[in-house]
Amino acid sequence: MECGLYDRIFFRLKDGSAFLPLSLMQSPILENSIEFLKGVGPLRAATLKSELGVRVFVDLLFHLPFRYVDRSKIQKISEINSDAVFFQLKGKIIRVQDSGNAKVKRLVATLEDESGTIDLVWFKGVQWVKTSIKQDETYIVFGKPTRYKGSFNIPHPELEPIEKSRTTMGIALSPVYSTTEKLSAKGLNSKGLERIIQNLLPMIKGQMPEILPEYLLHKLKIPGREEAIIQVHAPQDPEKLERALKRLRFEELLFLQLLLVKKKMDTTSKMQGVSFSQVGDLFNRFYKDCLPFDLTGAQKRVLKEIRADVLNGAHMNRLIQGDVGSGKTIVALLTAILAIDNGYQACIMAPTEILANQHFESMSDLLKELPIKLALLTGSTKTAKRRIIHEGLLTGELNLLIGTHALIEPAVQFKSLGIAVIDEQHRFGVAQRASLWKKAKLPPHVLVMTATPIPRTLAMTYYGDLDVSVIDELPPGRKPIQTVHRTDAARAEVFGFMEKEIEKGRQIYVVYPLIETSEAMDYKDLMDGYESICRRFPRPQFQVSIVHGKMKSEAKEFEMARFVRGETQIMVATTVIEVGVNVPNASVMVIESAERFGLSQLHQLRGRVGRGAEKSYCILMSNDKLGEDARTRIQTMIRTNDGFEIAEVDLELRGPGDLLGTQQSGLPEMKIADVARDKDILKAARDIAQMMLDSDPDLSKPEHERVRIELKKMLVSRPNWSRIS
Ligand code: ADP
Ligand code: MG
Repeated sequence: MECGLYDRIFFRLKDGSAFLPLSLMQSPILENSIEFLKGVGPLRAATLKSELGVRVFVDLLFHLPFRYVDRSKIQKISEINSDAVFFQLKGKIIRVQDSGNAKVKRLVATLEDESGTIDLVWFKGVQWVKTSIKQDETYIVFGKPTRYKGSFNIPHPELEPIEKSRTTMGIALSPVYSTTEKLSAKGLNSKGLERIIQNLLPMIKGQMPEILPEYLLHKLKIPGREEAIIQVHAPQDPEKLERALKRLRFEELLFLQLLLVKKKMDTTSKMQGVSFSQVGDLFNRFYKDCLPFDLTGAQKRVLKEIRADVLNGAHMNRLIQGDVGSGKTIVALLTAILAIDNGYQACIMAPTEILANQHFESMSDLLKELPIKLALLTGSTKTAKRRIIHEGLLTGELNLLIGTHALIEPAVQFKSLGIAVIDEQHRFGVAQRASLWKKAKLPPHVLVMTATPIPRTLAMTYYGDLDVSVIDELPPGRKPIQTVHRTDAARAEVFGFMEKEIEKGRQIYVVYPLIETSEAMDYKDLMDGYESICRRFPRPQFQVSIVHGKMKSEAKEFEMARFVRGETQIMVATTVIEVGVNVPNASVMVIESAERFGLSQLHQLRGRVGRGAEKSYCILMSNDKLGEDARTRIQTMIRTNDGFEIAEVDLELRGPGDLLGTQQSGLPEMKIADVARDKDILKAARDIAQMMLDSDPDLSKPEHERVRIELKKMLVSRPNWSRIS
């Protein structure tokens, strides 16, 4: 969508100035430059702007505390018994020492209270800490201890001289603000920020207009906007704070959901889509003669849902969620055939070249009896071939295009694209989906398939503009994969097990982590591992393949193909094999340094086996020291094969940003709300957004005027929102 969808539908304004945001007209004080706040001035203002993006008063008000400290509770050093939780201590600094060396600077300060001593350690900002910390002074110290060589220390604690903290001792809950080194150097550490914010609070009384309709405040029993802002910066008691936070989180989620629900309503009801009115000859022939198995009930149901979408000219934007191996690909292919039956073209986009190749090969095979022309387009397609493909797409001679990101390049133009399928592995953002639209006069239907399930709440946010179908049933005959954890010490035993499986005719994956930041080391581990496997499984009796990202793509494909054909028994690889690759004869997945993989990645990898009729195994290797999160990940893998359950645990462990890559999703980062923590608020926001828009699609009722205006403001300040696909 080139022009802003919302500008057209929401706000039919000829002259923007006629609709100056109300909040701006009524409360100029909130828009005052931060420079003019008591305690700020031009220097600090410049730093606030560059470091936190705080420009005017209201920006500072929305720089919320990220935590509160219960100042009424002080613990003793001798009580420290765990490295999992925060402690607040009171004691005297008895020693400050530089340690470390010329390369790695380190500062150690020793804190003493009546029960003992503990070291406070800094690795960063050493210079600054050194000048600000004073020996023989008493401090309130807050931090998370870690165990080091048998005793505890506290890295990077928060430190506050006792006499300064006394001013806040009266309030049990004291806010803690995130800050930066540069701000701290200008006196704006957490305490400094607290001071200037406290200067601001009395000035905003009666100045902050409410933006939510009165009936919502009433219904949800949440405080007004101004009251909420005051409470989060200067909480009177925990209950009031909780309700204030709830209000602000709700507000943030509500606006996002309004945007998404509106978008969804528009694309499904107002947007014209191409219509696949008939189930034609190709579809019927494929279904009858070429489909190698019966569809599962879930596959049939999802196909029906798709069919209902595309039947009558509405525009489909649908997400298929299904666990690894649940059979999403065939649903995509059937949908593509439906489009072709109706005179349209289809494209299927995969996240990696290996996967695109495999889709192309298996689909070519499935379609060989039918008059459907398909082509493969990836980054490594040669120019001459590329030209032929471009031409075939324009003339309409090519019916189905399979490929990678290469598909969204502007040079790729279709005669009549009817549907775009995105097999996604979390990598295609909203903006990229949007670029597909430009390839046809009427927007093509869009079918997104997640490679691994995501929790419902996350789907609601990141795919909130899509309808969701779920394939919640695996094809018949699959035996659950048995997952075990083995330490490196048990390697000989694992090798023995591998040999037995190979003797039974099975194939085995051995996967190594490869992380950009430690790439050189990781490659070394991979090659060392490969060599020791080659020694243990020598030729000619055994054949071992290796595939990794540094290999040329022909070499990769060659090795993959050998493994797929069963010519090699062991495939040693990095996560390049993670996505989609299908070798039904593979029955063992060994994951090296399993503690370094994320949960969804582990689950993805495990999904590479258990695709045939044989009993399959996943062996998670690690050394015997595991952090808490790593242990949870491994235990979760052992406990369950259910991708949806795993996704929930993953969300708890990692938080939403990491899980989906907020940056790439094209949606704004949540500043206040947290999709993992605020599930209930999110659901409420979704329902209420739906309700508001059902009863007032353009938000033109008087009680929604402020909401409409705020939404408009948000869209102006974030231009990419209006272009959401
Ligand atoms: P994913 O959902 O992970 O993309 P795939 O589409 O790759 O899963 O399917 C996994 C395997 O299951 C493939 O080998 C596919 O041919 C097979 N498969 C899919 N649907 C069925 C079915 N209904 N019955 C039997 N096998 C199926
Ligand atoms: Mg797949």
